[in-house]
Formats: sequence, structure tokens, C-alpha cells
Amino acid sequence: MGPKGVKPKRSAFRKIGHAVNVVRSALHEQRKRSSRSPKWRTVEKAQLVAHPTCAACGGTIRLNVHHIKPYHLFPELELEPTNLITLCMGPMECHLRLGHGGLFRAYVVDVVTLSQKAALSPADRAEIEKTAKDARQV
Ligand SMILES: [Zn+2]
Ligand SMILES: [Zn+2]
Repeated sequence: MGPKGVKPKRSAFRKIGHAVNVVRSALHEQRKRSSRSPKWRTVEKAQLVAHPTCAACGGTIRLNVHHIKPYHLFPELELEPTNLITLCMGPMECHLRLGHGGLFRAYVVDVVTLSQKAALSPADRAEIEKTAKDARQV
């Protein structure tokens, strides 16, 4: 055991970091809603009804609908259901970490495979997140 106070401090840092990422995620989602097809909200809702849990962790907190092939490269797939995956911004931050490799302006080609891996082997999560980060493209 370390000195008193060390652990709570670390966890406070983590909480602040997570809060910042949740805000980043909210801005990211807001940008999508304001700049894209008026049909997006409907498609987004349908995806969340069909896939109501995070594909990577099974969570239900702060679910986002992520584009597997990113909008800026494949705008024609914006409303295509097979191009969508439900990921969360709950404590595991699956959307940011697996969908975008830690950077919302980047994307991870293998997001589906990596999310499946994360769902099947939660113990390998750190390694899977590293793979996503190393593979991210801007
Ligand atoms: Zn998740
Ligand atoms: Zn995304």
C-alpha cells in the first residue's frame, strides 16, 4: 500500500479525464447532428433500438452511434445501417478508444473486429485499446 491519499488522487485524475472526454464526445455528436442529413436522428434512433448496448463492453451508459467507415471519407454511407456500430462513452469510453483510437478526429478501420474482441475477452482490454491507438488514422 502506498501512502494515504495516493489512490484517491489518481482516481480523481481519472474522473476528470473521463469528464473531459465525455464533453469532447458530446461536442463530436453535436457537430454530427448540426452538420449532417436531417435523417440522421431517425437513423441514429433506429440503430439504438436495434442495438441497445455497447458492442465492445455491453454497457448502456452514454451510447453513441459510430460510423465504421468515417463520414468525411464515405459521406454516402452516412445513413447506411451496416456502416453503424453502437459504442459507449460510459466509464470504458469504447467510442473514443476503440472507434477513434483515442482521438475523435481519427478513426480505426478495424473497429468492428476490435469491439468483438473486447466483448469476448475483457481481460485483454488494455492491449486491444493499444492496438486501436496504434492503428488509428487521421
Ligand atoms: Zn462500451
Ligand atoms: Zn465515432
